[in-house]
Amino acid sequence: MIQKLGVVGAGQMGNGIAHVAALAGLDVVMVDVVPAQLEKALKSIEGNLARQVSRGKVSEDAKAAALKRLATAGTLAALGGSDLVIEAATENEAIKKKIFAELCPLLRPEALLATNTSSISITRLAAATDRPERFIGMHFFNPVPLMALVELIRGLATADATYAAIHALAGRLGKTPVTAQDYPAFIANRVLVPMINEAIYALYEGVGSIGSIDAALKLGANHPLGPLELADYIGLDTCLAVMQVMHEGFADSKYRPCPLLAKYVEAGWLGRKTGKGFYDYSGEKPTPTR
Ligand code: NAD
Repeated sequence: MIQKLGVVGAGQMGNGIAHVAALAGLDVVMVDVVPAQLEKALKSIEGNLARQVSRGKVSEDAKAAALKRLATAGTLAALGGSDLVIEAATENEAIKKKIFAELCPLLRPEALLATNTSSISITRLAAATDRPERFIGMHFFNPVPLMALVELIRGLATADATYAAIHALAGRLGKTPVTAQDYPAFIANRVLVPMINEAIYALYEGVGSIGSIDAALKLGANHPLGPLELADYIGLDTCLAVMQVMHEGFADSKYRPCPLLAKYVEAGWLGRKTGKGFYDYSGEKPTPTR
């Protein structure tokens, strides 16, 4: 049974994964190379747990117990005793491979390794580790405490026992697992991110303003968030990385990332996490940036 969980990367996904795992009774250590990210992650988790308490979803005792089960560290050495490590660092293959190269020698041979990648080949990442049979894709959705789905993606070498252990863990975390084959972007992002990219093309070509494009999809397709609002939620760097992986992985021009998306990323306007993307979040209400 998985009890000791390591989470690498304390960004918006890492902190969400740590939140639900600590609440489910696992002992969690979060690692990030940027100390400020660890502080920010702990603050977010505390704030999000407090909101759950105020809504009657979580008891005050459960919140306190969850916070006690959470620790942070600046180096991967703190993850040596883990039963499972979930990698949720920046969506960049070289960064992820470097983390696995450093992490694997520190882990017990029986420890499992999962990646929260949105799009990169699980088989290829697994091959960069010393344990492809104990490696799996465990793809959560943002914000993790609220979203029910987790996609489970087996690499070519993933063992049945690994899949079964991670499937059981998804249930313990209160998530509904859906199994996807290991093709670029899996299921949800394969459909969602090209839609977002198309919305950005519509903006780029002047078909509509940010407000009209989002209103059209909310009112016309009954989406709870417009595609540009959703892009800001996901992170524009992540959206661009997912499009690039599909563009290369399928070698199909229909996945060509919109140049305007690339421009926003070049500007460092990455969405909610940096305070500005298609909307500016510095005021009381988000306002469109074009
Ligand atoms: P983020 O930018 O919020 O966080 C990434 C974190 O990784 C940062 O805190 C960064 O400091 C840290 N990091 C970078 N290099 C590191 C290293 N060598 N060691 C330890 N930490 C390191 O990004 P995010 O949105 O949390 O995404 C993280 C992963 O989750 C990506 O693979 C992304 O594709 C995936 N994902 C994102 C979403 C989403 O909606 N944002 C949904 C599902 C999966």
